[in-house]
Amino acid sequence: MSNLLRETVSSIHHWNGDLFTFRTTRSTALRFHSGHFVMLGLEVDGRPLMRAYSIASPHYAEHLEFLSIKVPDGPLTSRLKNIRPGDEVLVSSKPVGTLVVDDLLPGENLYLLSSGTGLAPFMSIVQDPTVYERFRKIVLVHSVRRVSDLAYARFLTEELPRDEFLGPMVSEQLLYVPTVTREPFHTTGRITNLMDDGGLARLTGLPELNAATDRVMLCGSSAMLADLTERLEARGLQGSPQIGHAGQFVIEKAFAQR
Ligand SMILES: Cc1cc2nc3c(=O)[nH]c(=O)nc-3n(C[C@H](O)[C@H](O)[C@H](O)COP(=O)(O)OP(=O)(O)OC[C@H]3O[C@@H](n4cnc5c(N)ncnc54)[C@H](O)[C@@H]3O)c2cc1C
Repeated sequence: MSNLLRETVSSIHHWNGDLFTFRTTRSTALRFHSGHFVMLGLEVDGRPLMRAYSIASPHYAEHLEFLSIKVPDGPLTSRLKNIRPGDEVLVSSKPVGTLVVDDLLPGENLYLLSSGTGLAPFMSIVQDPTVYERFRKIVLVHSVRRVSDLAYARFLTEELPRDEFLGPMVSEQLLYVPTVTREPFHTTGRITNLMDDGGLARLTGLPELNAATDRVMLCGSSAMLADLTERLEARGLQGSPQIGHAGQFVIEKAFAQR
């Protein structure tokens, strides 16, 4: 377990029966780029039980924050959902991932398209001031099944725009587009639908997503990634071929099917 850091849980918030957020201490040794993920877990019977987790907190924060699903009978999350302040979690010391702004070619607008816990890496990215310097508008789309799955909605609409430092940039440049697929809401339907029927352009007031001006980050289920990749490629956008090579869009799975 030498490559694992021991962090202490400081707070937990349960959004609903399926979703929670928690904060931990952050070892000074842990450095990461906005959008990165770590391996996170618990010691079970003397051995680490680890899963990939995107870091939802900004790279400059003193704490770490994670957004977690509660999978019924999931080996890790059936235990992790019961953590309390003061408990210890294990965190890998080398964050990694494909959702880094450095792997995007320069562009005008940045689209962050997420479903479910795929929002987590983008919570770190929308709190990174350099992102607001690189792009004119940042469009954060979060697709969920139920209204109560819209984690961070109040933070994004009320707290972040009033943040002493980030507030002016957020108010001017961040467009938050929540959409709900299985309950009535002001915006409904999958992200694919919003792209196909012009809903995204209508909601943001921006031109249709295009290769000349727009760069995209995707984080969701394998099916969501496949559907959106097809649409982006049809619009002429080319994905980053690998970490360290820039493209017009980058993708990462929000979870792996087992
Ligand atoms: C790159 C990467 C980043 C990830 N980041 C996060 C994150 O920030 N937050 C998070 O909650 N999970 C994240 N995951 C998923 C995470 O690694 C675990 O799968 C999850 O914590 C469940 O662990 P488990 O042991 O309870 O169940 P597992 O045995 O790991 O999963 C069981 C099944 O539950 C479903 N499932 C797992 N995770 C999710 C999910 N997040 N949303 C919907 N269905 C899911 C899948 O069908 C999976 O086959 C990430 C996965 C990858 C590959």
